[in-house]
Amino acid sequence: MADTPDMPDTPDTILPTSSPAPAESIESAEPENQQVEPARLPTALVYDPAMLDHHVPEEFPETPERLERGIALIEALIAEETLPAERVLRQDARPATLDELLTVHTPAYVAKVQLAVERLRERAGDDAGPVKFATDVYISPGSYLAATLAAGAPLVALDAIGEGRAHNGYALVRPPGHHARPAQAMGFCLFNNVAVAARYAQQRWGWQKVLIVDYDVHHGNGTQEIFYNDPDVVYFSTHQYPWYPGTGASTELGEGVGKGATINVPLPPGSGWSVYDPIFRQVLWPVADRMKPDVILLSAGFDAHWMDPLGDMRLSNADFSDMTLEVAEMADRYCDGRLVVVQEGGYHLDAVTQCMATTLVALTGSDGILDSLGLAPPLNSRWNDEAIISALYQLHDLAGYRRKPRRQGKRVTPEQKPESTAGE
Ligand SMILES: [Zn+2]
Repeated sequence: MADTPDMPDTPDTILPTSSPAPAESIESAEPENQQVEPARLPTALVYDPAMLDHHVPEEFPETPERLERGIALIEALIAEETLPAERVLRQDARPATLDELLTVHTPAYVAKVQLAVERLRERAGDDAGPVKFATDVYISPGSYLAATLAAGAPLVALDAIGEGRAHNGYALVRPPGHHARPAQAMGFCLFNNVAVAARYAQQRWGWQKVLIVDYDVHHGNGTQEIFYNDPDVVYFSTHQYPWYPGTGASTELGEGVGKGATINVPLPPGSGWSVYDPIFRQVLWPVADRMKPDVILLSAGFDAHWMDPLGDMRLSNADFSDMTLEVAEMADRYCDGRLVVVQEGGYHLDAVTQCMATTLVALTGSDGILDSLGLAPPLNSRWNDEAIISALYQLHDLAGYRRKPRRQGKRVTPEQKPESTAGE
């Protein structure tokens, strides 16, 4: 936290996205007659510095600095009262128990991760550097604790919601989880944090119908696999395609009684707000309306940001804010606001840390954003989102409820088309 006061990338503007004025405080985005609104419970923020002790090689994208700087930026916002302290309920993470991990992973796999870390420590000591564990996955002496904390943090947020202490929650975790398969680590992931949370929500709190929304630029193959036969856990993913890890075609729909509960939205590289916005309004909303979830989990990866080195998408911080707000509104409508955001990817340091802070701001009920990076450069062409959406309507037999644009007329981006009201 020592670098907080002079953190170079603390943006000097926090923009209420609904206002044309460039430099107002977050408070200005709030309604003026606040006294007539019922008191809103805070957002649980679950974090533990021990998650920084999962070390990786030089130049590996998934670094401890992502979280370290994200939490420093959040703490700075709270300290300067830009983000009111009473809106955030800070909670320490706890490690997921073995039984909790075994709801989605095999006993042999969990033992393999634990043993590998123990042997590394015995062989090379607590200061040992990272060693390769699987493709794109390294472990260091702190990795088992870090990974179990990453899987346990969302459970702490769910408890805070279930016990009536928080409105929603943000598990700011690493290593990420959505590529982790039942018996295999991959893509920077050891345990599937969001999947463990889905099972916990069902078993501890009786929230049987779980909607998992995943806007990370990569397809969450592990999450899809774990719930592929499960009708109660709907997995909705937008992702660049074809791209790592190769799964996520729209024709992957689930199997058996789970058929139809997997909803993949593969998107071409270059997709920006003009594609994501109608997909969230016209595909995700009818999906949520049809299932009426008991709780929503959001796999929040910020690697669809236009600056991200691992993706080719064109989203900005404001776009991530709006997608998070959309999901939060969905939770308010269907499940008393029960929403836990679980951190996944995002590898441009400024983009990911500002998106982390912006996500927390959104969860507390504000549409203020932190952004020193701006919008993606103009694009001369645009993708045909109508064709993408109508294909999804056919595949998933969708109909009915849709949402109007959040910021109609407020936002002018070069790739934005005039909105049609047809079918709204
Ligand atoms: Zn990713």
